[in-house]
Amino acid sequence: MTPTPTPAAGPVENDTGGIGGHPRGLTTLFFAEMWERFSFYGMRAILTYFMVLAVAEGGLGYDDRKAAGIYGTYTMSGYLLSILGGFIADNFIGARRAVLIGGIVIASGHFTMALDSEITFFIGLALVAAGTGLLKPNISTMVGSLYSPADARRDAGFSLFYMGINLGAFISPLVCGYLAQGEGWRATLGRWGLDPRSSWHWGFAAAGVGMTLGLIVYVLQRGRLAHVGNVPPPEADGSRPWGRVGLVLLGSLALITAMWFSDAYKWIVYLLFGLQVALILFFAFRPSQESKRIAAILVFFFAAEIFWAIFEQTGSSIALFADRLTDNRIFGWGFPSSWWQSVNSVWVILLAPVFAWLWIRLGPKQPSSPVKFALGLLFVALSFAWMVPAAKLTAGGLISPLWLLVLFLLQTVGEMLLSPVGLSTMTKLAPPRLLGLVMGIWFLAAALGNKLAGVVAGEFKSTNAGELATFFWHQALAVGVCTLVLFALVPWVRKLMGGVH
Ligand code: GLN
Repeated sequence: MTPTPTPAAGPVENDTGGIGGHPRGLTTLFFAEMWERFSFYGMRAILTYFMVLAVAEGGLGYDDRKAAGIYGTYTMSGYLLSILGGFIADNFIGARRAVLIGGIVIASGHFTMALDSEITFFIGLALVAAGTGLLKPNISTMVGSLYSPADARRDAGFSLFYMGINLGAFISPLVCGYLAQGEGWRATLGRWGLDPRSSWHWGFAAAGVGMTLGLIVYVLQRGRLAHVGNVPPPEADGSRPWGRVGLVLLGSLALITAMWFSDAYKWIVYLLFGLQVALILFFAFRPSQESKRIAAILVFFFAAEIFWAIFEQTGSSIALFADRLTDNRIFGWGFPSSWWQSVNSVWVILLAPVFAWLWIRLGPKQPSSPVKFALGLLFVALSFAWMVPAAKLTAGGLISPLWLLVLFLLQTVGEMLLSPVGLSTMTKLAPPRLLGLVMGIWFLAAALGNKLAGVVAGEFKSTNAGELATFFWHQALAVGVCTLVLFALVPWVRKLMGGVH
């Protein structure tokens, strides 16, 4: 990629050559992120199945709990390393180059997983997590940089970007899932004289091909992004904050390690929760408005963490439910269980325009962000309450796919209320000098939520309908209580936000 080109002359408002009258750079970032998410979700769709599959059948032969734990640690690591990835871009290499390097690391990770061994599996996962940390936060920052702060197209630009994310997330489980699990493809491998049990590695490789396509788009169209994500200027004395990057790296690795150990030592999780509550109280009762806003950010953090802890079980407990307990046929035609991973994205693509319309329609009468967050929590709680009768029905055999279809609908409504709203609320509440950090904190909530999802999903029982119903009911109840608490806290949180809606 060209090193630090001169910024484009003239305001970016003049550039309307991209999709829907947006800057042309948005089209490039849209497709680059679409392919990155293609690789992320395609691989994720088959990860748990591969881990729990017997060794004789080509898998790793892990039990459900171990697989859910590894899955949670891996997804957590990608989001957690976003803090480091954002910091490196902000202080050393700039977002544009960080995205390029991140993409290359991700693709090498997927190709490493294409090799058939346990060690390459883990090296590949580590590479994908590291690359995601470098790419994900910085590609989002670049979207923001395409618009001047006053540009009215900004929010719509982010919505289009979210559609790109979900387009990739929709297509990839279909492709990677078919390659990994599809009977037709396995038969083809057999005809080629290859071992049909290696099909999983074709799925992982396909994820790498997707990321490579994203990189090609990104490099070919780099000219459109020449004015954003440049290498930041060094400090006045020419130095770079090497000491601090070491600190962020150590902090991130320490947190990942602590969370890894939380599989064996549950008290680490409780300690972390306690710490969060203490921090909220500490900031809320300090006199400055800035501290009070930080307390509000931490309340949102807490709610988001709980939300993702349910939502992100899609790749673990819900994936196992889809595989073992659901009748995966439409009109008599069977499909691979990994295709379920596409359903959330289909709902996003259908619902995002509805919500965009709703917010414009309601204008100033729309609910405040803490209310939207509480509603988001309510919908994920409802989604698991909905699974209680579904779980009971599994006693009589495979259940209708309609159950999971509605589960994903409820969860996606929750996502629409919390995820994009959270992103914009964070940017509004953050003190300007802490913007990058606050963004990192937002992704940290996703990181911890993903880990928690893995911990909770470890309790999944597919062999006993009664226990399975309890699994869903306990979680619905716990999140239901959090929802009530958040609703009760709304007036307080609004006060903490000090005028920000
Ligand atoms: N589904 C969205 C994505 O993949 C949001 C994920 C998140 O913030 N945890 O980008």
